[in-house]
Parts: sequence; C-alpha cells; structure tokens
Amino acid sequence: MAVLIDGKKLAERICAEVAREAAKLPRKPCLAAILVGDDPASEIYVRNKERDCLKCGIDSRRFDLPAGTAQEELLSLIDKLNRDGAVDGILVQLPLPEHIDESAVIDAISPDKDIDAFHPLNVGKMITGEPTLWPCTPAGIMEMFREYGISLDGKKCVMVGRSNIVGRPMGLLMLRENGTVIYCHRRTPDLAEMTRQADILVVAAGSPGLITGDMIKPGAVVIDVAMNRDPDTGKFFGDVCFDEVEKKASFITPVPGGVGPMTRAMLMKNILTAAKISLKQM
Ligand code: ADP
Repeated sequence: MAVLIDGKKLAERICAEVAREAAKLPRKPCLAAILVGDDPASEIYVRNKERDCLKCGIDSRRFDLPAGTAQEELLSLIDKLNRDGAVDGILVQLPLPEHIDESAVIDAISPDKDIDAFHPLNVGKMITGEPTLWPCTPAGIMEMFREYGISLDGKKCVMVGRSNIVGRPMGLLMLRENGTVIYCHRRTPDLAEMTRQADILVVAAGSPGLITGDMIKPGAVVIDVAMNRDPDTGKFFGDVCFDEVEKKASFITPVPGGVGPMTRAMLMKNILTAAKISLKQM
C-alpha cells in the first residue's frame, strides 16, 4: 500500500509560512487578478485565489472585464499594473476568449510580476537554471518530493503530458534534480511501455482513467496532476486509477487533496517572493 502524499496539509503549512513572512514586510504583498469573461470555472479559480490571499496576509485587487473586451484594452490594463509600484503580482486567468492572443498577453506582463511564471523570459531562466519564479504546479510537486524525502537523482522520471503550464516545466525541474526524463504525449505510441519504466511518474493529461495498475512499476512514485470533473456528481478525480495504482506504488497523491492545494499554495509563495524582490528584502 502506497504512502499518501498529503498535499492539503503541506499546502496549509506553506500558506502559514507565507503569512508569517508577509507580516514581516513593510507593506502587504499585493496580487492583481484579471478575469476576462464569465466562465464559471475561471470565476471559481479566481475567487479561490482571492481567498488564499486573504488567508496569507496578501492584498488582492480583482479586475473583471467583459468577454468582449478588446485585446488592446486588456494590454493597457496590464501596462498600468506593470507600472504600479504597489502591485507585486499580475495574474491573468486563462483561458482567454478566442479573439485575444494568449501569448501577447503573457508577454505583456512584466517578468518581475509574472507570478504564474509563464513569461518566456522566466521560462528561459528556468531552462538555463538562473534563479526565477517557477510555475506553480511543478513547483508544488517539487515541494512534495522534498517533503517526503523522494530523491530524483538518477531516477527514471516519466512525464505524461507536455503542456506549457504543467508537463514541459515539470520535466525540466526533474531534469534539474538529475532525473532521467522521458516525455510522453498524445503521439507516444505505447504509453504503458514508457510508464512501466518509471521510478517517478507524473501524469498531467486530463484523461480520466488513463493510468491503470498494470502500467506501474512496483514501488513507483505516482503524482496525479489532473482535475477531471464528473459532470453528473460534480466530484473531482484524476487520470490515475487510484485503487489499482496505490497497491503497487510507494507514494501516491490523492485527487482532490494532492497537487491542487499545492498549486494554490505555490502561487501565494510566488507573490511573496515577487514582493520581497520588489521591496528589496531578498
Ligand atoms: P495540462 O494543462 O493539465 O497539462 P493540457 O490539456 O494542456 O493539460 O495537456 C494535456 C497533455 O496531455 C498534452 O500534452 C497531451 O499530449 C497529453 N495527453 C493527453 N492524452 C494523452 C494520452 N492518452 N496519452 C499520452 N498523453 C496524453
């Protein structure tokens, strides 16, 4: 039976630490959160981030823009926030409406305030190993490895998924820790052949039930990033068939209560870091 990696508990500890650190600064850190349109899921995400800020002693300013907002208008708001010395972090909730070019928006955020760490400059620094903010989900998973004493050194790490937000940066961080990294994606012909080799398996495909017990090497560490929502019950579940896989794995994350809360906590940590840098406290 695998050890359950308790993301909720660890996230609570990180948030408490952020609150303690934030209280020591000459002023509260401040997040500016921009939501374009009225997608209900995005609305919930932004509301949760505001709540997390409140818990962590971080101010938050919210900007709700109508779905029809012109790209220029959004860019000019970002420009204003970039120049506002009281704002430490700028977050534009994705996805954006179709008429808005997502990369143009990401590129417009000042890299110092890019607390999602999606800006190409921050991505580049992560690749070359320069100090920079890390994207929240991969950063949260690395914290989990550290907390549970899971070393990646020389381990075979299989990353299922290659999105810019999760899979790609996650593989890079595992490589930094000396893992031997294999990326799998939609065009990987035999996924099971790859996952069976994994000492560390991270799954971010958004495909319910993708990873079954027979695809796991005994003793593997299994991290399930997915948050699939059952449209009937509203319950969340991952890409990993938990009951089968936990019998073979050494460590496993639950869904919910695993990676999700860690992602949220790392956003708070990134806002704190951005504030510390801006206030010359680190
Ligand atoms: P996220 O933001 O959680 O990473 P995305 O939907 O952006 O999710 O990306 C999903 C990723 O998962 C893609 O890189 C895709 O290639 C990969 N993927 C989806 N289905 C499969 C599958 N059946 N086998 C392997 N990889 C898959």
